[in-house]
Amino acid sequence: MRQPLLKHTHIIKLGRFLDMLYRPSEIAEEIGVTTDTVCRSYIPAGLPYTRDENNRIWIHGPAFAAWAKATIARKKSQRVPLPDGQGWCMRCNQAVEMIRPTILPATRYFELLQSPCPHCGGTVNRGRARQHPSTVQGEGQGMGVKP
Ligand SMILES: [Zn+2]
Repeated sequence: MRQPLLKHTHIIKLGRFLDMLYRPSEIAEEIGVTTDTVCRSYIPAGLPYTRDENNRIWIHGPAFAAWAKATIARKKSQRVPLPDGQGWCMRCNQAVEMIRPTILPATRYFELLQSPCPHCGGTVNRGRARQHPSTVQGEGQGMGVKP
């Protein structure tokens, strides 16, 4: 899975790119990511670039801006369900592992999983269907609680 590390805040900075070629380090500096992110995340994800005769990578400013906008728009429209054990961290803007989540019953059929984000420490929420609906329906009918 190759999701480029692009945040919505980066879009604001796209307007400052000029009609010229940039080194990956300059792109990184302009939008506030590391050069590594540009080379190992953006380029493998399809960012257009060219190489000169010295095998150095150059990125066209407006091409980068167009690619970034299209990528963010595509990401927003993707509503792929997350794998079990992962939740979406709104602060990191990425899927993160949910380790030992707290389970909060929300409705009869729905429960909320909460755990701290392993990257930023913020709260990650994930909803799911209640796992043991029988304990809901069976309340007060002497069904007992299973371990
Ligand atoms: Zn986070």
